[in-house]
Amino acid sequence: MTKKELGIRSIEALKERYPEAICSLVASNPFELLVATRLSAQCTDARVNIVTPPMFAKYRTLEDYANADVKDIENFVRPCGFFRTKAKDIIGMAQKILTDFDGKVPDNIEDLTSLPGVGRKTANLICGDVYGKPAVVADTHLIRISNRIGLVNTKDPKKVELELKKILPPEESNDFCHRCVLFGREICTARKAKCDECNLNLFCKKKI
Ligand code: SF4
Repeated sequence: MTKKELGIRSIEALKERYPEAICSLVASNPFELLVATRLSAQCTDARVNIVTPPMFAKYRTLEDYANADVKDIENFVRPCGFFRTKAKDIIGMAQKILTDFDGKVPDNIEDLTSLPGVGRKTANLICGDVYGKPAVVADTHLIRISNRIGLVNTKDPKKVELELKKILPPEESNDFCHRCVLFGREICTARKAKCDECNLNLFCKKKI
């Protein structure tokens, strides 16, 4: 089986298990999704979703964030860890979007990664979820699962992203990543993967 065939079989198997491919972070506009994604580094999505509603209620526009008191943002985001850096990045992102991007969250990897605290993972998530572009969010679940299945043979996030972009059909790649998060939490977990319950076990190279 070629890697492209393997990719398609994996996509179909995960679609069967998870018909809905949704981002678990809650946000009502592109900047909020950017903020939530920044906060999710070294933090669970569930915790981010508890932390963000009061902050999103108080700060409504890019200008609100750009002019915010960093201590106030720190107090909101403290439970997410690395709160000083994250608070500074949130304000810096808003300021740069206003000054360099006309107040619009960028729609491409290069511009997105020029924002403070935004790496390729976040940039891909915004490209995929906000702008509907082909995207590969190389998070811990996708890296583990795509290695186990045999789609890639590297743990380097950028290499995983770029290799999967060649293997997966562009229109399916973003949803595949979202499904991998659900699958990685429930079945193909880091420890004690439930291979007996897995509908990829007929072709997975690392079936345990
Ligand atoms: S067979 Fe096991 S290792 Fe392979 S994808 Fe399924 S749960 Fe993961």
